[in-house]
Amino acid sequence: MSSDGSTQTADATSARCLLCSIGCPVRATRAGPDHYIPDYVPHAGYVGLCGRGSVLVELADHPERLLEARQGEEAVETAEAAAGIAEALRGGSSPAIIVDGNTDIGTLAAVGRFAADVGARWSVYVPPADAGLVHGLDASETYFIGPEKLADADAMLVIGNVFATHPVASHWIFKARATHRQMPLLLIGDPATATAKFATRLYQPRLGVGEAARAVAAIRTGRTDALADAGVLAGWKEPLASAKKPAIVVGAEMGYADARALGVEVAALAPGVRATVCPLTAYGGAWGALRTAAASGAICPVELFSNPPDVLLVIGADLESAMGTKALPAACELLYVGPMPNRLSGRASLVVPAAFSFETAGRTLLGPDRPIQFEPLMAPPAGVPTVREILRMAGAPAGVTADVSAPCSGPEMPAAGKAEPGEGICLALATDPIHFDDGSLTHLASWPQSVRARPVLLMARSDAEAAGVGDAQAAVIDGPGGSATVEVVVSEAHRAGQARASAAFAEVRNVFGWAWNGAKPGTPVRVTVRKA
Ligand code: SF4
Repeated sequence: MSSDGSTQTADATSARCLLCSIGCPVRATRAGPDHYIPDYVPHAGYVGLCGRGSVLVELADHPERLLEARQGEEAVETAEAAAGIAEALRGGSSPAIIVDGNTDIGTLAAVGRFAADVGARWSVYVPPADAGLVHGLDASETYFIGPEKLADADAMLVIGNVFATHPVASHWIFKARATHRQMPLLLIGDPATATAKFATRLYQPRLGVGEAARAVAAIRTGRTDALADAGVLAGWKEPLASAKKPAIVVGAEMGYADARALGVEVAALAPGVRATVCPLTAYGGAWGALRTAAASGAICPVELFSNPPDVLLVIGADLESAMGTKALPAACELLYVGPMPNRLSGRASLVVPAAFSFETAGRTLLGPDRPIQFEPLMAPPAGVPTVREILRMAGAPAGVTADVSAPCSGPEMPAAGKAEPGEGICLALATDPIHFDDGSLTHLASWPQSVRARPVLLMARSDAEAAGVGDAQAAVIDGPGGSATVEVVVSEAHRAGQARASAAFAEVRNVFGWAWNGAKPGTPVRVTVRKA
């Protein structure tokens, strides 16, 4: 791996939005006694946040915040609850800890040390596609850049709907287009997206068969016979190879195996066309989290849940929304540490309020060689400790440091994902620029709720007609894990036989019925669609 070392974003002492790997700097200013507004910080020629990032201030001050620890129905002192966590884990026969990966790396390393002390296995949760992309790219010889450097490119291969998943990245892509008016922008992604509007060529992969990775391989080798539309990718290598500063922008939205294969193929293509690579992850801290996990003895979630724990401490993540109800062990004692209530905290026997990760100072990696140090956006409400403070109350030692110096390729999730054969259309998740990841945080904020209160289903006209539904009508998706009601968005250009549904709704994610011995979290599945 190499990079020019100059991609670190400015304003190293600002707080950061980590709701994607752009990592925009942000400040909060007080506009009244109980009224804070986000204050933008200049960022490599850009001033602003996307709509997603602007909700951080509202979350910090949210009326539903967890403010006191509870055991069952009873309020308890935080220190007592923290001691209870250590006691419960030590008393388990197969205890485990899983911590949200959008956490500073010092805290993640401290969790790893605490896990060793109490005899628990531990894992970091990042969206499976992020994990696959990092593991597919990190140990390669790829020349990485941060998104700001995209402004210098004169040809781009973009994989995924970057304008939705990483809205501020579009600023630097537009700058490149303004400098190079004829800039080729080759897109492997869906046609009915904002990104597709600016593409000069487009290839829509089939879902669930690793085809985005195979399309990248086809650009490199010229062999397109294994692809759905063999001819479309012909000649895509030339505009990259003949450019002075070609760049590949890659994000991933599906399961681990698809994303890992994609990362491997991007790393194989880039040197042959002298392209720099800008990897984009949904979790801003995914790269730092996965390197910390690899260096600190974490195991992958598949391994953790395949041997179900009897006591499980969850820190910060809403695993039930993220992975669906079937992926969690049915019978285990749950302990929860986090800033907000969620579906999982409602089932926990012990709940301890904690600061958001953006309310603590810390470090992470936004990508390879993109280290950042950040300050708290705001102080947490009085009496709410940071996760590290809770760990210390639970008896963990202070002064544990994280090692993120080495690229990582694991711990890996085994077994490649594959679309199950069967009836119906293939359904995958779709990120939008409104909600963050599984939506468990942004659903609590007013703007995302008002703009995208219901999930949408993007599907081809022929599939919609076959299902008897029309544009803007309500439909029901029936899948292996259950049903969800969605609003249909019909696209003329969308490939028939496959659809995407809003990723940020727990009821949609449950439809997939993900399980560790079947379709793993993030993987597309077959569903049927009917009129509501
Ligand atoms: S979600 Fe990403 S693009 Fe939006 S403000 Fe946060 S870091 Fe910036």
